[in-house]
Amino acid sequence: MAIILDGKIIADAIQREVKIAAEQLRLTTGLVPGLAFILVGENPASQSYVKSKGVACLDAGFYSVTERLPGTADEAEVLALIDRFNKDEKIHGILVQLPLPAHINEQRVIEAIDPGKDVDGFHPVNIGKLMIGIDTLFPCTPAGIIEILKRYAIDPSGKHVVVVGRSNIVGKPIANMLVQKKEWCNAIVTIAHTGTKDLASFTRQADILIAAIGKARAITADMVKPGAVVIDVGINRIPDASTKSGSRIVGDVDFDAVKEIASAITPVPGGVGKTTIAMLLVNTLRAAVKTSPQA
Ligand code: NDP
Repeated sequence: MAIILDGKIIADAIQREVKIAAEQLRLTTGLVPGLAFILVGENPASQSYVKSKGVACLDAGFYSVTERLPGTADEAEVLALIDRFNKDEKIHGILVQLPLPAHINEQRVIEAIDPGKDVDGFHPVNIGKLMIGIDTLFPCTPAGIIEILKRYAIDPSGKHVVVVGRSNIVGKPIANMLVQKKEWCNAIVTIAHTGTKDLASFTRQADILIAAIGKARAITADMVKPGAVVIDVGINRIPDASTKSGSRIVGDVDFDAVKEIASAITPVPGGVGKTTIAMLLVNTLRAAVKTSPQA
């Protein structure tokens, strides 16, 4: 039976540490980390994410501001807001909640953010630095995965990590982080995707299996090596008549079956997702510290 890697405990610990560090920063430099959210349209999931992130900012003692634009807003309006926040000294981090409406070019929007304020870690400058092993603002979900491994003393060094999924926000960055010749990385990494024939033959080789697929319970017990560490990034809503809302959230891993053979596993909810917000706070604090005269 696997150890449950509790993302909430880790996120709470990180958030406490950030709050203390932010208070010290304020006392020594007068700086208050500031995070600006840009929300375009009325997507309920995006609204809820921005709300949770805003609450976390307030709890950490950060300054935060949310600009809401209607779904009909054009790209120029979003770019103008970014330009304003790029120049605003009270703002150290800018987060444009994705996805954006289809008529807005997400890549152009991401690239308009000052890389020093790119607390999502999606700007090509930050991704490039990540790739070549330079310290930078790392994407929050992959950074959260590394924190889970670290805080549960699961050292990926020399282990075979199989990442299923190659998105720019999870699969590629976590693979590139784990392959670095650094502490809590130094893994042998395989990336699988829809072009992978016989996925199970790869996942079964994993000492650490990271599922970032977006398909409910796609990783079944027969695809996991006994004793493997399983990190489930997926957030999938499935119908469930027994709940009030008629649905519930599950991961990309068949948790009930896989926990019987894995040595450790993240639950969904309560795993990686919790640490994502905590790492956003870490990035905002780091971005603020970099602007302080003592940095
Ligand atoms: P994307 O849809 O951008 O990428 C999914 C990846 O999985 C793609 O690379 C795709 O391959 C691959 N894939 C899909 N189906 C299969 C399959 N059957 N076999 C092998 N590979 C497959 O998703 P994201 O990376 O953005 O997100 C993945 C999941 O993580 C989602 O459930 C999302 O909601 C969740 N998520 C959770 C976060 C958190 O904080 N916990 C943060 C971000 C995402 P290909 O490239 O070939 O199409």
